[in-house]
Amino acid sequence: MRIIETIAEMQSLSGAARDAGEIVVFVPTMGYLHEGHASLLREGRKRGDLLVLSIFVNPTQFGAGEDFDSYPRDLERDRQLAADAGADIIFTPRASEMYPAGFQTYVDVERLTLPLCGRSRPGHFRGVTTVVCKLINIVMPHAALFGKKDYQQLAVIRRMVNDLNMNVEIVGMPIVREADGLAMSSRNAYLSTEERRSALCLIRAISAARDAFRNGERSVAALRDRVLKIVSAEPFASIDYTEFCHKDTLEGVARADDTTLLALAVKIGKTRLIDNTILGEE
Ligand code: AMP
Repeated sequence: MRIIETIAEMQSLSGAARDAGEIVVFVPTMGYLHEGHASLLREGRKRGDLLVLSIFVNPTQFGAGEDFDSYPRDLERDRQLAADAGADIIFTPRASEMYPAGFQTYVDVERLTLPLCGRSRPGHFRGVTTVVCKLINIVMPHAALFGKKDYQQLAVIRRMVNDLNMNVEIVGMPIVREADGLAMSSRNAYLSTEERRSALCLIRAISAARDAFRNGERSVAALRDRVLKIVSAEPFASIDYTEFCHKDTLEGVARADDTTLLALAVKIGKTRLIDNTILGEE
């Protein structure tokens, strides 16, 4: 496995692989890797010849007062996990090369970025789409894999790739969870022991809403009530949003059906966690 730090070298390696007829597969991340990232890498390994993992904590997707500076970073640890999961290349560009002086071009997906995380994190998705577009231009993959944990991000990237005729297949992968149901996240590292326990309210709330839906409850007001009751009972938890929306348009609904996405963002202490489910899916 090689570690590549410059854009020119990454572009030339990918270009050579493509010229040789190889399939290039890409998994973009911000590092501090866990089993969720590993599942993307393992699937990527099956789909291609050259598997590229990027590790880049992208400054443009963090708002003022968010955790850009404290975001966990550990390349040594990541190197081991990436090698074990079959990556061929770790691409870790410097922010100064990705955003040199004079940089002024951004990609903006308009409507899909308005609700959910877009509402609580203005500018976040503009940073995400810009960096993913840049990374795709640099890595030139045939396919790129993204987790459904960041459901809205996946939808926004699909939209961008479609709208801008980018020649890459976007693959969405299932949420990987800890044994007790907490969705894996690099940010889980911020949680104290008590907060880690409190964080289980996300999966408990999601499970309760799913159970009620399975038992015939279709009123979003009633389903939201169940979620809010569970989360608000937790000492360290405060709700950012609980939304029931259509899984493709992300527009809010009043009655739930098989196409309804329940998306949750909850602050546990200072740590903001997200999770989601499509009510009609197994
Ligand atoms: P991040 O490093 O958090 O930006 O995530 C990089 C990629 O890994 C994104 O496509 C995420 O959706 C995906 N990912 C993160 N956590 C999980 C998880 N628990 N299960 C599946 N995919 C995940």
